[in-house]
Amino acid sequence: MTSTTDTICATATASGTGALGIIRVSGTNAIPIVATVFKGIDLTSVASHTVHYGFIINKENQESIDEVMVSVFKAPKTFTAEDLVEISCHGSPYIQQEITSLLCENGARLAQAGEFTQRAFLNGRIDLTQAEAVSDLIAAESKASHELALSQLRGGFSSDLKKMREQLIHFVALLELELDFSEEDVEFANRQELIALIDEIVLQIKPLIASFQYGNALKTGIPIAIVGKPNAGKSTLLNTLLNEERAIVSSIAGTTRDTIEEKLNLNGVDFRFIDTAGIRESVDEIEVIGIEKSKKAIEQSQLTLYLSDFSTMKAEDVIEDVKQLNLEPEKTILVCNKIDLSSERTTEHITNYKAVLQNFGFHNLVFISAKKNDGIDNLKDFLSNYVEKLKLNLGNTIVVNQRHWNELKDTQKALCTGKESLQSGISGELIAFHLRNALKHLGNITGEIDIDKDILGTIFGKFCIGK
Ligand code: GDP
Repeated sequence: MTSTTDTICATATASGTGALGIIRVSGTNAIPIVATVFKGIDLTSVASHTVHYGFIINKENQESIDEVMVSVFKAPKTFTAEDLVEISCHGSPYIQQEITSLLCENGARLAQAGEFTQRAFLNGRIDLTQAEAVSDLIAAESKASHELALSQLRGGFSSDLKKMREQLIHFVALLELELDFSEEDVEFANRQELIALIDEIVLQIKPLIASFQYGNALKTGIPIAIVGKPNAGKSTLLNTLLNEERAIVSSIAGTTRDTIEEKLNLNGVDFRFIDTAGIRESVDEIEVIGIEKSKKAIEQSQLTLYLSDFSTMKAEDVIEDVKQLNLEPEKTILVCNKIDLSSERTTEHITNYKAVLQNFGFHNLVFISAKKNDGIDNLKDFLSNYVEKLKLNLGNTIVVNQRHWNELKDTQKALCTGKESLQSGISGELIAFHLRNALKHLGNITGEIDIDKDILGTIFGKFCIGK
């Protein structure tokens, strides 16, 4: 890791030409270095959190590079908790490059990927989960993923973990104290209380682990499969849902047919349709139902739309297919299509049809005409309700990051092993070992302990320069 006392600089805005560009400078000499290249007020004597108009000048040849606004932030109330200056210049890549070069000639160096956020972490302004939330916030593409990142940035998750760690540390300390008095055979840590505490912490961790499926789905979009016999109307439904025929036609013109996915955003949540290329190919394979292909798409999905042709298929035929595809009721919406064609559209017929499928355990049923755009809003309501239902069993905190999820699972494992050791009356030393292990995994999440440099490298390496 590089020294954190030197001064770093980088363009913070996206590369390419924009109306404005922002160059960030952070470190002990940030203010004097910018002052050297700035023509206007003397920046070394201005108050913190103030903005100043002037020019960036190459003092060697007195050449003016750009007309700028400079914001000065003095430590510690800054993003990095160091002195920080932001230069708002015009958005030309040439200007930005000239200014950063000039800053480097005057004592700054180019920042590495994620180095600004890494400094905020190393200087104790944010913890690791918040640093990761900064990255997620920048990458957020939907309202839902934006909200998740924002709530993580506020630190609710970290404070939950902190409480758990404090409780465990207390007991580990008592166990270690026992080890110091091992010859006297004393028990400072009450075993029953410790078991109760482990149970309580596991109870808190479980919903966090379970929330990942939801959190991850919100962050990256909920994977959804559309399956059903050829000609059931799958591609028609997809077109109607996505409402952009031309885009779809061009998307299959490519060569990577197998990996085509399309997104539908409903109330701020993305739904990702899996293997839509397969759906569109099905016209060529009239006699092949594509069971294997469908099963694969179902496996990769969190929710399945099973589409049937209501005008030709009996409820019993639907059940046959549902069995063959091993569809699960909670994860499936049975979509009965082509209601415009059916000669038996009577309420009575639909009621009977519904009853057969509901008796079989499937309650998510929608009757639509994909072609006539009838019942589609109903289907969209089912999709939105699915998200709402997922939320019901969750607490306030939702895990969105795979690294946190893995660490939580390891914490749970270590705690359960610790509990088994306790119950079998094994030595305090071994119990302390398992609990320390649990503490290590909990601490890895927020970076509260001496975190492995490799882990830091992996986390901050994912950022781009300037963050
Ligand atoms: P897929 O093989 O499941 O993708 O089915 P398609 O979407 O290609 O549809 C097969 C045929 O059924 C096409 O001729 C569609 O126009 C027609 N179709 C699809 N949905 C409906 C519908 O709701 N009503 C009617 N009348 N025809 C439909």
